Amino acid sequence: MSCLRELEGKMVHDHHHHHHPHPHPHYLQDHGLTRRVWVPGPVIVGAGPSGLAAAACLKDKGVPSIVLERSNCIASLWQFKTYDRLRLHLPKSFCQLPLMPFPEDFPTYPSKQQFVEYLEAYAKRFGIKPVFEQEVESAEFDDSVGLWRVKSVGLKGEEMEYVCRWLVVATGENAEALVPEIKGIESFHGKVQHTAEYRSGSSFKGKKVLVVGCGNSGMEVSLDLCNHNAHPSLVVRNAVHVLPREMLGRSTFGLSMWLLKWLPVKLVDRFLLILSWLIFGDTASFGLDRPQVGPLELKGKTGKTPVLDVGTLAKIKSGDIKVHPSIQSVGHHSVQFVNGRVENFDAIILATGYKSNTPSWLKEKEMFSEKDGMPWKPFPHGWKGECGLYAVGFSRRGLLGSSTDAKRVSEDINKFWKAEAKHMAMTIGRSFTFQP
Ligand SMILES: Cc1cc2nc3c(=O)[nH]c(=O)nc-3n(C[C@H](O)[C@H](O)[C@H](O)COP(=O)(O)OP(=O)(O)OC[C@H]3O[C@@H](n4cnc5c(N)ncnc54)[C@H](O)[C@@H]3O)c2cc1C
Repeated sequence: MSCLRELEGKMVHDHHHHHHPHPHPHYLQDHGLTRRVWVPGPVIVGAGPSGLAAAACLKDKGVPSIVLERSNCIASLWQFKTYDRLRLHLPKSFCQLPLMPFPEDFPTYPSKQQFVEYLEAYAKRFGIKPVFEQEVESAEFDDSVGLWRVKSVGLKGEEMEYVCRWLVVATGENAEALVPEIKGIESFHGKVQHTAEYRSGSSFKGKKVLVVGCGNSGMEVSLDLCNHNAHPSLVVRNAVHVLPREMLGRSTFGLSMWLLKWLPVKLVDRFLLILSWLIFGDTASFGLDRPQVGPLELKGKTGKTPVLDVGTLAKIKSGDIKVHPSIQSVGHHSVQFVNGRVENFDAIILATGYKSNTPSWLKEKEMFSEKDGMPWKPFPHGWKGECGLYAVGFSRRGLLGSSTDAKRVSEDINKFWKAEAKHMAMTIGRSFTFQP
């Protein structure tokens, strides 16, 4: 008998039930009608690093939670939507989740397989068993009862409603691929794919490939194509800061964080730019103009992350990767750029990033913007909303940001949990039964 079924039985018959429901995924499979479950602790949406970190910090404090995940595994972004050669961009010490460091024998920049391994061990260590194949379609605060109603749909269309006091949004800044409108792209005869679908350059051997976008993904995919004997070109639409991944024998990120303790951001930026210039020369001379504002200041103001070079720049310098300005239009086999040049390509890869999906399911306007699905308040204030609503992983600060958020959220919820959980579980248990 699954625990959920058990819960159902208890909910109907035992008004004093206040156990943590730990639904077994299989239970959800063959029901056509909406079922309603009262969850005594928080409901966390998303089983990526942020959702896992939140669940672990809560568990550590003795607060039970339930994690809902649309995919069939944890960290689906990493398992299904990233290229093979991906490694963490930042050293492991800046990417570990709370309460459990990376294994010592992991390299400084763990591979994606290693990162997934770590996350699996993490989930196991804290006994986190997400309910998989549960896509949250809406979450709304019900004023009349003072609780969140979180509705999800399973693979076979079966609907569930989770009723809870606290809702933790952990669906990520990268929930959906961002695909820009490009004139004529639908008529292109070659392959067009987003980096979310790109695995390796091996299938592009000998092909001319246009990579659109020069963030970390675009730069790395271009390098990967080069290494697999394809002929990549990179579209660079805007100014971009490219920094070496390491400087003076330390990670650029670590060095920057250290310097920021002592010096103002403008000075640290100047220092980073001088070192970059010594290492790379003038990046503008090979098509990569730098923004007016320095890399760290820009990150703070707009969230735009500097690119940490892992070898792409050398290939751009050597001419193995060509650089083009924005696309004017796309033809059957060719692409015309805004400078008037026309070139033929076999494939186009869109390294155009991702966006949050909260506007599609979170029925709430105070905390999250409907425009970009991100919290209105900038870091460090974006983690908490009204009525028991929280966000983990929306600070544009990568995994480090997820950890900070998870700790804050768990501490905050814990305060309320201690004060009211038992009382709540008992009284609410009385008013919610299952439908039909
Ligand atoms: C290629 C790449 C490399 C990166 N490298 C680094 C790095 O080296 N260091 C670093 O600090 N950061 C890095 N980041 C940034 C960031 O830390 C990662 O994206 C990280 O995975 C974010 O974790 P998350 O849990 O917030 O989001 P995600 O990993 O995206 O997890 C969100 C989860 O929510 C699920 N979900 C979404 N919508 C719903 C719904 N409606 N219902 C149910 N489930 C839903 C998704 O399926 C997913 O499993 C990288 C990002 C990318 C794209």
